[in-house]
Amino acid sequence: MRVPRCDKCGRPAVALLTYSGRHLCWEHFRELFHKRVRRWLRRQWFLRRGMRVLVALSGGKDSGSALHVLNEEFGDRVELLAISVDEGIRGFRERTLERAKEAAAREGVEHVIVSFREFYGVTTDDAARVLDRPPCSFCGVLRRKLLNVKAKELGADYIALGTNLDDFSQTVLMNVVKNDIMKLARIGPHKLRIPGLVPRVFPLISIPESEVLTYALQEGIPFSEEVCPYKFLAVRGRFRKVLGYLESSIPGTRHSLLNFYMELRPFLGERARGVRVGECERCGEPTSGRLCKACQLELEVKRLLGLPAEQD
Ligand code: SF4
Ligand SMILES: [Zn+2]
Ligand SMILES: [Zn+2]
Repeated sequence: MRVPRCDKCGRPAVALLTYSGRHLCWEHFRELFHKRVRRWLRRQWFLRRGMRVLVALSGGKDSGSALHVLNEEFGDRVELLAISVDEGIRGFRERTLERAKEAAAREGVEHVIVSFREFYGVTTDDAARVLDRPPCSFCGVLRRKLLNVKAKELGADYIALGTNLDDFSQTVLMNVVKNDIMKLARIGPHKLRIPGLVPRVFPLISIPESEVLTYALQEGIPFSEEVCPYKFLAVRGRFRKVLGYLESSIPGTRHSLLNFYMELRPFLGERARGVRVGECERCGEPTSGRLCKACQLELEVKRLLGLPAEQD
């Protein structure tokens, strides 16, 4: 069998970029990977020497790669910290947390672990037991809030997430289909500051999931391939399938969705500016209503479990 060769130097290729038809060797693939991270971060943050960047580390390949590439590219200029959230998903989170610890230790960064059980008094497993819908919206909303609260406590200037191109384009499409303009405006990256909200950046926003996997394997990043037991219930799965089909028949679809979103962002920002953001009556986090979404979900699950609203 003929081994594909790098289009730039002729050495054996490790990756085929299907949307451009290019084969690349490890050296040229890595160079392009890092270049894309630098280029896309320039559009997302204001880089300052000494700023604190909190990397949300799940134990998977994406956030592990994000931490590694940030450390390689900016480790000499910014202070990196890692945080993992234990949402209380038995049989899944314990194992992924172990990989997260290894990934943080390998990069030599401080690693903080926070849990739903300690912070909220309820877990995603609790929510899955009592809610009549998939627990993912509960899990995602409560994780976002906890990350924001801890980022403020830790004095972080940015939260970096491992979101790759596949995740991001799915999120854009999902919110378009749901006609949820406000959510679309809030996805981030957040160059426009919202008081009380630590801006989020996505170093891997332009990189397809398959290429992140190649990078993580080649760089020897510790990661777990464990899949959350609730993932198959999530609505996102349908968008993953649809986008997978579109990408294979119209290569470049994911990039088009990303570019479409980035072009649309200034207009979405205008729309978001018109909404008054206040503080949640219960927890003080930013919200446009009386109670933030996380408090509403926490209270709903506690009520269904027969637990008191507040912990001692
Ligand atoms: S798949 Fe759903 S329940 Fe599992 S970690 Fe992700 S958001 Fe939480
Ligand atoms: Zn090459
Ligand atoms: Zn609240």
